[in-house]
Amino acid sequence: MLIVALVAVADAGIDRPKGPSSSAPGRSEIAVAKPADSAIASTPAETATPTGTRAETPTETPSGKPTGTPTTGTPAGTPTTWTPAGTPQPTVSATPPAAPTAFPAVLCDPGVDEICGTVPAPTPLPSEKSLANMVLKFHVPILEYHRVKPYAGETGYAVSLIVPPETFAAQMKAMAGAGYHTITMGELGEDMRTGIQPAPKSFVVTFDDGYEDGYTYARPILQSEGFVATYFVIGSMIDHPDHLKVAELRSLVASGNEIGNHTMSHEDLRPYVLKPEKLKSEIYDASAIIAADVGVWPRSFCYPAGFTNTWVEAEVAATPGIETAVIQSGHQPETWGNRLEMPRIRVSPALRPADLVTKADLYLK
Ligand SMILES: [Zn+2]
Repeated sequence: MLIVALVAVADAGIDRPKGPSSSAPGRSEIAVAKPADSAIASTPAETATPTGTRAETPTETPSGKPTGTPTTGTPAGTPTTWTPAGTPQPTVSATPPAAPTAFPAVLCDPGVDEICGTVPAPTPLPSEKSLANMVLKFHVPILEYHRVKPYAGETGYAVSLIVPPETFAAQMKAMAGAGYHTITMGELGEDMRTGIQPAPKSFVVTFDDGYEDGYTYARPILQSEGFVATYFVIGSMIDHPDHLKVAELRSLVASGNEIGNHTMSHEDLRPYVLKPEKLKSEIYDASAIIAADVGVWPRSFCYPAGFTNTWVEAEVAATPGIETAVIQSGHQPETWGNRLEMPRIRVSPALRPADLVTKADLYLK
């Protein structure tokens, strides 16, 4: 059972889920391989030791680029050997709570629950020293949307989450006209991990909270420009009214979009630092249920309302498959070192298309 407390309502307008939905329609139809017990029996060394605070700063350049790029969206093939040559072992100065090694019992119990997919290897973390050497920066505007739909009498904060379809279409048309093209957060994370600078004028479109209008209204507009997006869905809200259905998630993935992890309940994760099993299940179970629904483990994470701290980030980093996590503001260029605090540009309905292009252009400089 989820314990709901200390709710920070920055992303108002969503229905608060009452608990994990482990019986959403369609999941039992999924045929996914059961994980080998060994895959989850222990936490790999790369992630067993969280990296401490982001205060440790980069100073050297990694001497090589990793190979072995996962292309199927299933992080099972994630390279596990990315440690720049000659890098000394790090001295970790802060020790956030180690990720629990026990498998969460809420969902996907190996050997018991048939929806359990193959658990991918956790994304390897560079050592503190290699982070200290990372100088490669990425300049990829990441746009943050919630809802694309006509207004329907909403009031208050909920209104600010809505961008009418015609406005969204004009914004996307302007970006396309200015030469921009989309990549997903997963693709950006992979580029960051492998040290490949995305093509010029790449940008990312994200939708938070998994509303169904992201499929019914936003998707056709994106398709008309040849764009794709990353949809951050709340695990317990899949298949709920007004939210994305399993078939829609699958359709999105089939056409090149990405389904990202926005936790199970959309609660502020920070209080759960004192309840490590709860913190883990909020993050891990959402990945597991998405993997069971669409056959692809999420590679990208979004903190509810953007709230995070060192301990939350350590748990996100320890979650199999996750490479990057987005926050709700910031303008710093992306680096591997801040991949768990990726900045975004929140797009309001009042932002004129030409001004959006200007913002994106400025971001690239
Ligand atoms: Zn949200």
